[in-house]
Amino acid sequence: MARSRSEKARTGCAGRISSWTLLVALAPAAAALAQHPPRLVFVVTTGADHPPAGPGVTLRQALEAAAADPRDNVVRFDPRVFAESTVRIVLERGLALRAGPEGAGHDTLEAAGCRIEIAGRMDTGPLLTAHGLTLAFRNVSFDASSTRGLYLSDCPEVRFERCTLSGSLGAGITAFGSGAVQVIESTITGCRTHAIETHDQVALLAAESSLSGNGQSGLAQFDRSRAILADCRLDDNGRWAAVVSASASLRADRTEMRRSGLAHLDAGADSHVELNDCSLRESKRFGIMAGGRSQVRLIRCAVTSQAARGIELQDEAQAVLRQTLVGWNGHFGIVLFGRSIAHIDGGSISGNRGHGMAVRDQATAEAYDCRFERNEYSGIGAPDAGSHARALARRCTFHGNGMRPIFRGPMHIDPPVPTVARIDGRFVLVRTPPRATVDLYLDTGGEAARYLRTVVADDIGTFRLSLDEVPSGQVMTAAATTVDGHTSEFNVIAAQPDREILAALLARTGPLSDAGGPIDTDAAVQRWRPGTHVVFQFAERPPPHVVRYVQWFTQRLGDWTTGTVTADAAFEPPTSLPPGAMSVPIEFAYQTDERLRGAGGTTYTRWDSQGFFTGPIRIVLARAGPAELPCPRVAVHEMLHAMGLYHARVGLLSRMQGMTPPATGYVNDFAPAPTFHDVLALQVLYKQKVMSRITIAQLTRAGLLPQAPGPSLAAVRPSERPTTEEPESAELNHQTASRQ
Ligand SMILES: [Zn+2]
Repeated sequence: MARSRSEKARTGCAGRISSWTLLVALAPAAAALAQHPPRLVFVVTTGADHPPAGPGVTLRQALEAAAADPRDNVVRFDPRVFAESTVRIVLERGLALRAGPEGAGHDTLEAAGCRIEIAGRMDTGPLLTAHGLTLAFRNVSFDASSTRGLYLSDCPEVRFERCTLSGSLGAGITAFGSGAVQVIESTITGCRTHAIETHDQVALLAAESSLSGNGQSGLAQFDRSRAILADCRLDDNGRWAAVVSASASLRADRTEMRRSGLAHLDAGADSHVELNDCSLRESKRFGIMAGGRSQVRLIRCAVTSQAARGIELQDEAQAVLRQTLVGWNGHFGIVLFGRSIAHIDGGSISGNRGHGMAVRDQATAEAYDCRFERNEYSGIGAPDAGSHARALARRCTFHGNGMRPIFRGPMHIDPPVPTVARIDGRFVLVRTPPRATVDLYLDTGGEAARYLRTVVADDIGTFRLSLDEVPSGQVMTAAATTVDGHTSEFNVIAAQPDREILAALLARTGPLSDAGGPIDTDAAVQRWRPGTHVVFQFAERPPPHVVRYVQWFTQRLGDWTTGTVTADAAFEPPTSLPPGAMSVPIEFAYQTDERLRGAGGTTYTRWDSQGFFTGPIRIVLARAGPAELPCPRVAVHEMLHAMGLYHARVGLLSRMQGMTPPATGYVNDFAPAPTFHDVLALQVLYKQKVMSRITIAQLTRAGLLPQAPGPSLAAVRPSERPTTEEPESAELNHQTASRQ
């Protein structure tokens, strides 16, 4: 059985050799093959390493003679002497093989019928050194546990077939100079440093072999050495499966790397690595570390289940991932530092702890058609506008991530998310950066789970949609990619008008409101008197990113209230207000301040019997700790309360901003800006110029609210009445701390 299996494996191997032409071409020995000089057969007749007293040939004598002879010679073992299944030959000192004055042929050492184990006696140097030779070893075991393994220098070709090498005090095989090493159906294990170490311009081919269980690595490449691994295993190595340094290059096909101590692959300097159909898993730290100016390509690979990060790029490293899975790693799936670049095409980045992909420093990440699913935080943790990093995501899908599909830091306005400017019957006008490419998605929760289509905004940054495109019970989500290649976060830009969401936003009633229960049609709305100019008056100047976000928000409020009221923000100490203007003071307070009641922000409102706001209306925002920046989303959330909107269980006015995962009954639709529903609610609120109390029933009669609840968003149905305690007064108090 064993024999037939081995034959099959050999046939398979020979069949595949033809595809390894790259390496064969690198071997100068190929030219000499054509000569076919006659060969000699040397027969080893004693297992001793001393010259025997009578007639007899030692392994040392046979190998030295074969090496010195210019023909293609064969060294065999006399079957009458070596009849046992395994014969151990212990060398007194290392074998040193050199060509004779007439040059060397292609010599082969074959153990047929039994396995020959060659061992050294003590640490006297390498077990074998060969210089300038073409050698083949078949069925030979090298026990290098007392020696420094095999040293090959400038050997045109040294081939190991069905060999075992174990236990070197240094590397198993160290190859210098030029030439090629081939390791076929062999095992190298238990070496103190590396299974194979290549220097200079050596070309290595390892096929159907195991380079596992070595102190440092399975393969260590230096200088300009090149390696191809095909159908190999590199498991349980102390630090790396493969470390590729200097200008070395590695290609690995269908190779598995498991349980490395530090990283499966460490690529540095100017190295090149290409992995095709490889599996890298269960590293005790990282999957791939690439630094320097290294270039790494992964085609149809799986980088899964490492204890820490899947792939880390540093310096100016570049990675290309095609149809590759980076999943279930104990930290980020991919993280980019320095000026590194990642280009991702297809595949999946899923199930990782932390962000699926995090882009830091001045790094660049571009992802096309990639799935980001079930990552603990965001799909992509993108840089802030203030940083020089760049993240682009086109037609990627996001599902089940703990936070927003794309997450930006505290500046997170640039590029701004697509935001509804106006809803006109069944048509929606959306505002986005000029000439941005906008990918549209449909799903039930606003997480960008299903890609729909792409539109391009006009020169002033607008495009139109029809609500007929959005099936009932789903929402349309969009992200904009600017002409200079930055992708915004996502926002909900279209949905069927939803009675329950609008009732919650407008009058704090119904199942999606903080009050819970059925909709009270007598619940009334609160709003500013038509013609009011609202001035959000900051008591002290907030950080620049808050200023920019607040300005962006107030500039759009006029659109959203269809001009019924206008707003702006003042960041300097209060001055006299123009006639008709109302001031909403915004103060910062420490988290312990009782006005905050432990929340990230609080808005206090008062209104008259007609539902028009009266003074004093004020907002208190939590002052960020010394190490963190205040979140402008909280400021805008509070300002929407001050315009008359209440909490709903979706969008910017949900209480879940930053909760991971969302609390029961909330849906994480990840809105960083007013959503379609928020804008629709503002439009409804300020369209009615009736100067008396306005109730849900009146809005319904006026056709501004749908008559009946639609299928709504299944995911936002609260399973029970909310347990959050709200003050019974008109004051709003809520926690909106955002997770950064
Ligand atoms: Zn709130």
